[in-house]
Amino acid sequence: MIDQAVFKQFQEAIRHLGEMARPEKLTDAERLSRAKAVMRLKTDRALAMDLEACVNCGYCSEACHFYQGTQDPQYTPTRKLDLLRRVHLRESSAFAPIHRLFTRDITVDDLQEWQALVYDTCTECGRCSMVCPMGINIARGVNVMREALSEAGLAPLELMAVAQEQAGRGTVFGVGPAELEKTVQALRAQGITIPLDEPKADVMLVTTVIDVLLFQDALAATGRILNHLGLSWTLRSAGFEAANFGLLSGNESLQKAASKRLIDEALAIGARTVILPECGHAYPALRWEGRLDNGDPLPFEVLAVSEFVGREIQCGRLQIKPGKAGQKFTYHDACKLARHGGVIDEPRVAIRALGVDFRETAPTAELNWCCGGGAGTFLINRAEPLRHAAWEIKREQIEATGADTVVVSCASCRLNFMEAAEIDQWPTRIASLVELVAEQLPSNPTH
Ligand code: SF4
Ligand code: SF4
Repeated sequence: MIDQAVFKQFQEAIRHLGEMARPEKLTDAERLSRAKAVMRLKTDRALAMDLEACVNCGYCSEACHFYQGTQDPQYTPTRKLDLLRRVHLRESSAFAPIHRLFTRDITVDDLQEWQALVYDTCTECGRCSMVCPMGINIARGVNVMREALSEAGLAPLELMAVAQEQAGRGTVFGVGPAELEKTVQALRAQGITIPLDEPKADVMLVTTVIDVLLFQDALAATGRILNHLGLSWTLRSAGFEAANFGLLSGNESLQKAASKRLIDEALAIGARTVILPECGHAYPALRWEGRLDNGDPLPFEVLAVSEFVGREIQCGRLQIKPGKAGQKFTYHDACKLARHGGVIDEPRVAIRALGVDFRETAPTAELNWCCGGGAGTFLINRAEPLRHAAWEIKREQIEATGADTVVVSCASCRLNFMEAAEIDQWPTRIASLVELVAEQLPSNPTH
């Protein structure tokens, strides 16, 4: 059960988040120089080809929920890469001397304008790339733009504030080891075994500030499933936070440091598997970007909890009671899990095992529409109307299925759904995948 009062407090805290940011005092020349340095550094061969390959066909606009929700041409996906493109054409393309005659150099005003474009109107969902005839990876270019803006001190204040907190105190929204310990004690008081700081374990479970503050039932559910499977597992207070505000804000050194905390803890306990909570961006942050200090791949498996649960059901190790007959469920694929990570079949295996009337959205899976709140956009106050315009597409898609419940496996999506449902008085139930599965464990509802 979500405590609505806590959700309200959380929303109120987000409204004041930007006030905690400490923007760096830089001159315009310094901002420009820093942003351009990152653009140059990050424009490798693949990105250079992407920047030169666009044929302005406009297909990507059809795929982007921000463009579709507003019909505003400034939100055309390929336009979000214009500054990168201009710097590349003028400085490093084969015809740079000619481009310098016709292509205007970028300015700090451009950087300010693009801040809203690449943070507020791009969730890095990757849907545009699915339809681009040239295969252009716009989400990656947008991520490079975020890195350039972050380096220039121009990340949105809300993301800057949380990134500074995570880089400095190591907490997110004030949640550190002491708050985790309190949550663990509260769950233990409910009779759920939650190992904390075990020196050795096969499985390291990672959680997130959102679960600690709002969705403790999701953490409890994961614990109950791991206990039911008889696994040796633990949370680690020195490395439990899946949320990576380095990735979201564009601060690469923080992104690596936040992942390193998790990696170091997993190595210290000899974990063979790290299970990530219901958190979309945690998946690319650790699974795709995570590396050992020497650059080698991680020596353990990284799984999203929805992926883990689906696999366990598929191979027969986890059996649940089908107890939800007659209920009509649909599933929202989090972009970072499905489109970027290929986690498509496993959540569906789990939902079908619930015995429900499962209805796919159209389109679905890797072409499913983004909810509009990912990649930190949920935290940017001024982006609320844009998020809502994007959400309308998602809402129509879900309503067309006739489902009474939409299942999610990402806390950010869940928050965005909850916010939009509150605004629209939307009656559809929003449910966590892992919580639904834990409810159907065959025995001992709490152990
Ligand atoms: S779909 Fe691809 S080629 Fe067409 S406008 Fe968009 S980025 Fe350019
Ligand atoms: S990655 Fe997603 S949000 Fe960003 S421009 Fe492409 S479709 Fe739009």
